[in-house]
Amino acid sequence: MATASARDYNFNEMTYSPRATEFLLNTNDDAQGVTLRIYDAGKDGKVLKKVEMKRDKNIAGEWHATIKGDLKGRFYTFDVKYNGKYMGENPGIFAKAVGVNGRRGAIIDMAETNPEGWEAGRHTNLMHIYDHIIYEMHHRDFSIDPSSGLEHKGKFLALTEPKAIEYLKDLGVNTIHILPSYDYASIDEERLAEGNYNWGYDPVNYNVPEGGYSTNPYDPATRIREFKLMVQALHKAGIQVVLDVVYNHTFSIDDGNFQKTCPDTFYRKNPDGSWSNGSGCGNETASDRDIMRAYMMASVKYWMEEYGIDGFRFDLMGVHDIETMNAIAQMVEEEFAKDNYSIPRFPPNVLLYGEGWSAGSCAYPNEKLAMKAHMKQMPAIAAFSDEMRDALRGPWDGDDKAAFLGGVPGFEESLKFGIAGATQHPQIDYSKVNYSKEPWANYSSQMISYVSCHDDMCLVDRLKTSIPNISQKDLIKLDLMAQTAVFTSQGIPFILSGEEMLRDKKGVHNSYNSPDSINHLDWNNLKRYPQVYNYYKNLIALRKHHIAAFSIGLSNKNLAKHLEFLPGGDCLVAYRYKDLKKLGDKWSNIIVILNGNNDKRTVKLPKSTYTIVGDGDTINEDGIYTLTTDEIIAPPRSAIIMHD
Ligand code: CA
Repeated sequence: MATASARDYNFNEMTYSPRATEFLLNTNDDAQGVTLRIYDAGKDGKVLKKVEMKRDKNIAGEWHATIKGDLKGRFYTFDVKYNGKYMGENPGIFAKAVGVNGRRGAIIDMAETNPEGWEAGRHTNLMHIYDHIIYEMHHRDFSIDPSSGLEHKGKFLALTEPKAIEYLKDLGVNTIHILPSYDYASIDEERLAEGNYNWGYDPVNYNVPEGGYSTNPYDPATRIREFKLMVQALHKAGIQVVLDVVYNHTFSIDDGNFQKTCPDTFYRKNPDGSWSNGSGCGNETASDRDIMRAYMMASVKYWMEEYGIDGFRFDLMGVHDIETMNAIAQMVEEEFAKDNYSIPRFPPNVLLYGEGWSAGSCAYPNEKLAMKAHMKQMPAIAAFSDEMRDALRGPWDGDDKAAFLGGVPGFEESLKFGIAGATQHPQIDYSKVNYSKEPWANYSSQMISYVSCHDDMCLVDRLKTSIPNISQKDLIKLDLMAQTAVFTSQGIPFILSGEEMLRDKKGVHNSYNSPDSINHLDWNNLKRYPQVYNYYKNLIALRKHHIAAFSIGLSNKNLAKHLEFLPGGDCLVAYRYKDLKKLGDKWSNIIVILNGNNDKRTVKLPKSTYTIVGDGDTINEDGIYTLTTDEIIAPPRSAIIMHD
């Protein structure tokens, strides 16, 4: 079977005007026909028209139809014929509006979905790459519990409510990374009352918001308008929006829009003809092919232009090829430049990051894949550091395994690797780093610093599981220390929402479809653990006020000059950011001491008069106490932050 030939793909499958609607579809070159059907409803209902599309005169595999009259409010499907057989009705591969559950495309006037005051594609919150404080959030987690006090529970609109906005601003996060919010399969939009939960890593329509997060999944315009209202409210508050994009696999092959439209074109196969499964989800897309590369670029661009999305998190980025990722980075930058958002390319000015790994072997040469080890070939893109994450909480292959936080020695160099933002530093022994034996980033802005995300256990559960019989008091100390490492490192800090209110998931490791009772944030925790919230808030503020210190790694030649690791020991890492006034900071030197041991340790310091701003329990930039000394006692399971 022929695949789709290389060309400038036009993915505008439906263009509405009150006089006529134009349809266009890209297929493989050997498609024999495309039937277009117009319906009066998003499901069931009547076929109002059935039209055979015409093959483009010049472009093999491009099909057209124009239907006169005002079709607004109608729905459509394509059905492509190969080898005398129809593949089955579907909304196309680039539907921008759909009916319930995304089975049919919807004919709407996109301009009518714009909220009042909306300017599509504006990215008005100027932010340097190192200014981002990323907050990873699932719509249901955040707002579903009555304790949230939010009205639009589990919906896009929750993030338009003043209470939500004020909360995020007060905490100090400025970049909301929303878990998959395009149309996905696993929640039946006709049975929302049942309250089912899913993360949404099962894409159906990549370019339409998910109906389950809208107040009316039957009305195609509602989800679009409500998504835009969410972006608009966050932008107004100075908060950027990052979309989690899952181009690496689809929910289904045979029942998916890609396969029905362009059979065997969008997915990689093994030499024996079976589907490759680098995603661990049953299939793996082929970003290296012209049409998929063009598709990903068009999709990212569309979310930026139509919805004003500011950044993207690429799920299993290691399934994609390096060339595609760099092409996306360049395209995204050009989009920002249109909005006068021009900061020099290095450091890069847009937030693109991903998981620098796959979930199985891919049917593509490893050296060409966007893996973490290849990040130096993708200078405008960042990757998650599992080195730092696992150095703190423990290895990924066992929830009961502890590391630095549990007082297990041997992870110090891995932690230092993260503190240096995965870049080169002469005081790190790379042979002792857990997963990477050399730095993989050219710039520390290429590393996402984190200790937990939606995957695996959240921090509280991991601490409880890996450190038997840990007291609540110690758990809090370790939690705060973990985030102190994250926020005083050179990478871009990232937290899972709810960590700031000491969330737990009742020990569930993979909560992708667990009920709300597992995944919800219990907002009463804010009253139970005000110390935790205040610590996170003050830690974020401290990072912002001293970003000169925490962004040195953007120029790797400066890092060794301004970051010095002080003599430490087992589960004891101390580091000093120095000569900071030269970098514009108001403090001369900042020292951070992380003691993962369950007893106190003494750390030698350059003799000076120090102001302690973090004592393990609280942070106060004005100073908690001062002392003149050449050593300090680091309390058990605590982080100290001080300056002189
Ligand atoms: Ca859906």
